[in-house]
Amino acid sequence: MQTITLKLELQKPTKEKISMYYKMTEINTAFSNWLLHYENIKTATSKVFRLFSEEKFPSAIVNQTIREVKSKRNHQRAKKFQRLWCGFNNQNLRVEKDHQLYKVSFPTLHKRIGVPVFVKKYQQYWLDRLLSGKVKQGASELYEKRGRWFMAITLSFEVKQNSSEQGMKMMGIDVGLRQLAVASVGTSTIFFNGREMAYKRRRFASRRRELGKAKKLSAIRTLKDKESRWMKDTNHKISRQIITFAWENGVHLIRMEDLAGIRHSAKSRKEPGRNLHSWAHAQLQQFIQYKAQMKGIQVQYVNPKHTSQMCKNGHVNKRNRNGDRFYCIECGYQSHAEVNASINIAKAISGLSKKGL
Ligand SMILES: [Zn+2]
Repeated sequence: MQTITLKLELQKPTKEKISMYYKMTEINTAFSNWLLHYENIKTATSKVFRLFSEEKFPSAIVNQTIREVKSKRNHQRAKKFQRLWCGFNNQNLRVEKDHQLYKVSFPTLHKRIGVPVFVKKYQQYWLDRLLSGKVKQGASELYEKRGRWFMAITLSFEVKQNSSEQGMKMMGIDVGLRQLAVASVGTSTIFFNGREMAYKRRRFASRRRELGKAKKLSAIRTLKDKESRWMKDTNHKISRQIITFAWENGVHLIRMEDLAGIRHSAKSRKEPGRNLHSWAHAQLQQFIQYKAQMKGIQVQYVNPKHTSQMCKNGHVNKRNRNGDRFYCIECGYQSHAEVNASINIAKAISGLSKKGL
């Protein structure tokens, strides 16, 4: 079972609504902190709220907060909640569609309200799947960020192995040495050249060797920190650009190679030095994954076998790949090697790996 969170911005709430949302959050936070020290929480029902306050507060939110506080008490030492946004279960938060307009409806201090939301293209895909019962709705949360109010809805769904779901737009990302990353969606491709990065890393390495000879250990540590900060920064930039590209192309699913098993494979013998880069590559994939998930884009890992050797007609031969070039010796299909690989990754030609499932 996989889950994603859709963050839907509420359309232009009035000043009255905004102050009500703040008030609800305030009451909920105070109530949660009161509950943290309430002895009979195990058997508590929504009626417990009356012991805390005489104000009116939706029992739907009370129930979610009880659940939240219980799990916090079970999993960690009870600390104070700085803030607890109002939560709703799948029965109390409803998604509705009226012509092309999507709405979320939920109980508030006064009554249940239906609020239109801004829906991005990829979100529409998921909301339609929700409305047709293909994915399950989990908990939701009403929250504010930089003055805008959102409803975050959790969706969960089964991932079918090896099935390319109809209407699902996929992107394959090949992370490598010559090209740091190549992402392909259909016929569009984006390249991130690895040359400059390789050059910079070689300079870091030679500087480290000099310092090593001079036995300047603390200087080595400083340099290592500097290199990893630079690497992290670069990976953030690249992953951001890749996700923007994915988002602009309406991608629903990103596939990448599972690099964990690659160290001992033929691929690393053919590309010496790949090991040196493995942690940087793993970090780049990790950044891509969490940025994708923030946008509601699903991520899968595939087995790396044959991704760089197979042509689009299914012929596999080690000799098909020669540096940057791909040329199929059986059918003559030609392509850029990494583009070909990223298309094979998108298709998951050797199946999905267990990672992330
Ligand atoms: Zn071929």
